[in-house]
Parts: sequence; C-alpha cells; structure tokens
Amino acid sequence: MPDATPPAALGDWPIEVFEDHGREVLALIGEYFRNIETTPVMATIPPGDLMALLDGPPPEAAVPFETLLADTREKIIPHLTHWNHPAFYAYFAISGSMPGILAETLTAAFNVNMMVWKSSPAAAALSSVVLRWIAELLGYPADADAVFASGASLASFYALCAAREALGLNVREEGVMGRDLPRLRLYISDQTHSSLEKAAIALGLGLNNVVKVPSDARYRMDPMALDAAIRADLTAGYRPLAVCATVGTTSTASVDPIGPISEICRAHGIWLHIDGAYGGFWGLVPEIMEQIGDLSVGDSLVVNPHKALYTQVEVSCLYCKRPGALAATFSLVPEYLRTPPGEHIVNYMDYSLQLGHSFRALKLWWVLRSFGVAGIRARLADALALTRGLESRIDASHDFERLSTSPFGLVCFRAFPRDLRAAYADAPPPLRAAILAYLARLNGEILDRINTSGTAFLSHTVLREGYTLRVSIGNIRTEARHVDALWTALQAAAADIDAALAPEGVRPPVA
Ligand code: PLP
Repeated sequence: MPDATPPAALGDWPIEVFEDHGREVLALIGEYFRNIETTPVMATIPPGDLMALLDGPPPEAAVPFETLLADTREKIIPHLTHWNHPAFYAYFAISGSMPGILAETLTAAFNVNMMVWKSSPAAAALSSVVLRWIAELLGYPADADAVFASGASLASFYALCAAREALGLNVREEGVMGRDLPRLRLYISDQTHSSLEKAAIALGLGLNNVVKVPSDARYRMDPMALDAAIRADLTAGYRPLAVCATVGTTSTASVDPIGPISEICRAHGIWLHIDGAYGGFWGLVPEIMEQIGDLSVGDSLVVNPHKALYTQVEVSCLYCKRPGALAATFSLVPEYLRTPPGEHIVNYMDYSLQLGHSFRALKLWWVLRSFGVAGIRARLADALALTRGLESRIDASHDFERLSTSPFGLVCFRAFPRDLRAAYADAPPPLRAAILAYLARLNGEILDRINTSGTAFLSHTVLREGYTLRVSIGNIRTEARHVDALWTALQAAAADIDAALAPEGVRPPVA
C-alpha cells in the first residue's frame, strides 16, 4: 500500500520555505532589538509559572512555524533576563553584536565539525588565523599553540592539565593512583575565579592543595605573600604545579601584578597561567594595556571574546607558549581520525579534551572585520568613559562610597547615608558592626528594588567592607543617558529605603 503520509510530515523545511521563515525570524530579531529598551531587564516570573508555561509532553505532531515563532515571541522573550539590554549591568555586562548574530546563523547553517583539518579545512584555517590575530593584538607570542574552548573555566582546566604534564610526572601514562607522587600545589589569590578551584577538583589535586594567596588593599595578589607561600611549601616538601594570576578579577575587576608574579614563577620554575577572561581585551585600549602589563609572561593565557569582544557566547581562547605542551597532554589519535601531517595543518582535537568543535572562529572573524580593531578600541574606550563618569558621581556624593578601583568597566560601591558615615567614623565597635549590618540590608534592598523594577539589572559581591553593589558597563547599547537614569534610580532608591527602614540604634534619633 502506498504511504499516504504527506512529505511535510517527514520534518524539516524546503529551501524556499526556509527563506520565507528566515525573513520572519530576522523580523522578530529586529522587533526584539527595537523593543529591548522598554522590556524589563530581569525576568520576574516565578519558576513554577514559567515551567507551567513551557512544560508538557514532547510534540508528537509537527508544530507549525507560525506557532513556534509566536511561542518564542510570547513565552520566551518576556521571560528572559536580557543581557542585550542597555541597562544590563550585572556580573560582567557583555554584548553579542549584530555581525556576530549573522555569523552565528551562518555557523549553524554550515554545521561543520572541526575535528581534524580535513573535516573542515576553512574552519581550521580560519581558527588559526583568528587565534593568531588575537594573540598579536594582546601581545602574546603569535606562534603560541592555541585553541578555542567553550569558556574560560574549561580553558584554565586544560592549561593546568598541560602544566601538570610539563612537570614530567607522566600522569598521562601512569595516572595518579597508587603512586608515590609529590603533593602538587596550585597558587591563586583570595579573589581568583572559582573555576580554578573546580579545575583542582577535576585534576585530583584536592581543594586543600589550592593555596589562596592574600590580596592587597586593591584586591591584587600580593607577590611577597606568593613567594613566601611557595617557599614554605617547598620546605614542607610540596611541589608547585602552577600560579594563576588574574587580569580582571570577578568581584572587583582588579589586575594582579603579572610582572612581579612572573619573576617569582621564573625564579622557582613554576608555570604561570593568566586568567584574562574578562580583563584581557580591555588592553586593546593602549593606556589600559600599560596598566595590565605584558601578557606574554604567562606560560598560558585565557581570554574570553564572549565577555569583552562583542562576540556571542560561547567562545574562549586558550594560548600556551610552551611549544607542544597542550598536544603532549591531549593528543590521542584513533585510527579513524588519522590524517597525514602537512604544512599549516592543525588538528584542533589535539589541543584539548574536545574532539568535535563548532566553527567558533567565524563569528570572531566577522566581528573583528566588521568593527575593525579601531572600532572595538573606540567601543571599549566609550564604555570606560561611562564608567569613569559614574565613578566621579559616586565619589562626589555624600551618600555613596566606592569600594574598589579597576581600570576596566566595573564599579563597586554602596549607599552609605551621610549621617551614618559621620557616626561611623567615631563609633565604638558594636555600633560600627550595627551600622555595617544595616548597610548590608539597605544595599541589598536597593539591589532588589532596582532589579525588580525592570529598569536596570545589577549584581552584588561581598568585599572586606561588606555587602557591595556592582555596576559593570560593557553592553554595546549602553549610553550616557542610561547611566544617568541608573544614578538617579540609585539615589532615589537609597533615600526611599533608608527613610522607610528608619533604623533604630544605628543613628541618633531625629530631633
Ligand atoms: N575567570 C574569570 C575572571 C571570570 O570572571 C569568569 C566568569 O565570569 C570565569 C573565569 C569563567 O568564565 P566562563 O564562564 O567562560 O567559564
């Protein structure tokens, strides 16, 4: 009996239908960006309501395109937290630019899998070119081994795997079990991103062998304390694995002094990994590069184009200037992937745990060429000017105080009403503690008020002084008027909430 199923039920769309639908998807993207400013930045729908909206049985029958598009418009877009919003200031504000969107579309269309050179030659070649461009722009050796990763967490893990192999312990062949191995130590600062500790967990080092070197008053690793920790460990019989210095720490975007740290590493023969996930690309602005220092001192370096290079998540670049160290760690070629070597040929599967890679280089190629390095530099400089402007306002205010300094687009601060500030200066310890507890509550409520209003989205951290608001300026659509509105909203929220809380016991009663 002939099959009466109409062809459409087999799924997928003919090219002509795809082109029609594509125009509608592009129109929806245009509508999304046109409306972004009036859309609440943070989604506030309760998780249960959101699950009820989206959950259900898998669709047995094909869902028409019109329904997919409408559901995306009505059920997805309103319940996202919008990283594209000009008033997104949380975590590290990022932007996937317009050229990146179209390049991602092409990447999805080509759908090549970069395992070995011959499985996607142009993708492999372009990866080599773009990775080299970025190395050159950052002042890292252009001939260093390099590979893309999904993010800095995995890239740092790969770097530490290579550092361990470079110790000559032959962990690759012999493993770590039942052997008389030295206890390895990883040195980070008390500000380093948690991904380094996760790497220590995955490497089998154990969290107790991660040494958190204290940071100075500006949250930068203290090189003297690092040197002392290494010396004490050597005396106690430990073996240093690596030091991780950060350019742009997660809480305060501080910059560890990579010059002095690298000298200590060189003196002790220790691998230096630099986590420039956030801060690395700000160095494209020349005066910022001067403050960062020479990134080429790192045996390995990670930078995240998806943080500060206007490129869509997920794309991270890992560099390693120790020739062959990544391949010595990760290259393992089964018969079906064996290909003859040749000039220019790079098989990216040899440099990390990942066999298949998506074509991440294409979006970077589009972004770098569409903006030009000059355009990227100008954008970054613009964000820095907005950031310095907000800092000046905070510094000039009697009701706010700044709690850290970063060369990048991040401000850490808190509301500190002027009468409490005056009282704090001469207060005895119990009153100081009460004032600090009150400030934590006040600033927590300011954060909630602003975030639930939908007009801006901030995040927080806890610094030595206590609870701290963070404003990260890096979204490509953020303009001076947005920062003006944020500053007005912060001042109003601080005044309102302080008046409403009217704390007893931390300030003198109003006469
Ligand atoms: N390193 C730093 C300094 C970070 O701030 C972050 C995340 O914000 C990471 C590493 C982890 O990055 P990813 O999310 O790309 O793994």
